Amino acid sequence: MKAVQFAEHGRRDVLEYDDFDDPEIDRDEVLVDVKAAALNHLDVFTRMGLGALSRLELEMPHIPGSDAAGVVAEVGEDVERFEPGDGVAVSAGLSCGHCEHCRDGNPTICTEFQIIGEHVRGVHSEQAAVPAENLVPVPEGVDWETAAAAPLVFQTAWRMLVTRAELRPGESILVLGASGGVGHAAVQIADYIGAEVYATASTEEKLAYAADLGADHTINYDETNFADAIAEATDGRGVDVVVDHIGKATWRDSLDSLVKGGRVVTCGATTGRDPETDLNSIFWNQLEIYGSTMGAPGEVDDVLELVWEGAFEPQIRETLPMSEIGRAHEIIEEREGFGKVVVVPDSEL
Ligand code: ZN
Repeated sequence: MKAVQFAEHGRRDVLEYDDFDDPEIDRDEVLVDVKAAALNHLDVFTRMGLGALSRLELEMPHIPGSDAAGVVAEVGEDVERFEPGDGVAVSAGLSCGHCEHCRDGNPTICTEFQIIGEHVRGVHSEQAAVPAENLVPVPEGVDWETAAAAPLVFQTAWRMLVTRAELRPGESILVLGASGGVGHAAVQIADYIGAEVYATASTEEKLAYAADLGADHTINYDETNFADAIAEATDGRGVDVVVDHIGKATWRDSLDSLVKGGRVVTCGATTGRDPETDLNSIFWNQLEIYGSTMGAPGEVDDVLELVWEGAFEPQIRETLPMSEIGRAHEIIEEREGFGKVVVVPDSEL
């Protein structure tokens, strides 16, 4: 089969779309014919060797990619939930199933938690062998681009807002980077919950887009300090919740944007992982800080059901042949446009 791959970490030129051994399935796995796959910022970090925890000892060459959808080609002997011909989407979180956190129903804090595409071989390929428990059924009528683009960002945003921050109707929330993958999912979910949504982005076009998705107020962070803008808009009160996946560049202003007793929830640090923090602001204002990663199976099912029903929609920024994977990474790295970048195996075009 053909697969996106790299034999060493580095810049975009390490990416190739070339022949790769056909995957073989274990008894609990499913072979998926990939119809579409989507990119996340994680793919860039993985390529560069900047995984969340440390530079990973990946088996090379590595196939990146955490999001894909397609048709079941073959199932392992222990798999009962799927059969050949079923439409499926990949949900990339891998947990051990037996540590204390897995036993407590908290698989996203599994002590051995891994992500398909980051820690193990991913799905930016013509075929992928995926554990059956990492697949979600895709009903007929849902297009492959939507099915591929939704899982990672929508489960991440859903866990952040619903499970971790417990956002309630009528509360106010600030979503940073509202035109990115997680940001655009968070705006839609916050609006669905019935919150007052503030969103930041860097251009008027991206702000108009955030407003279309459900943001009630938009802030151009290139023109104004967003913490000052929030103070002005809320008569100095601040918002109840801030969603920050930007990291170092925004952390201090995120804390400054909160009401006393407010909550900040973080799922990433694309601008750096070691921000300055004023501890006085945390204890004096009794702020709560939530970390969040991916989503647990029940959360994934809940939010994807809403995507399949059309309540939420992953915006597709651009769809490219898989052989143009370098360009796909460039769009992500250069933060061009808004929404998700999708790649389709050239043989499917
Ligand atoms: Zn575990």
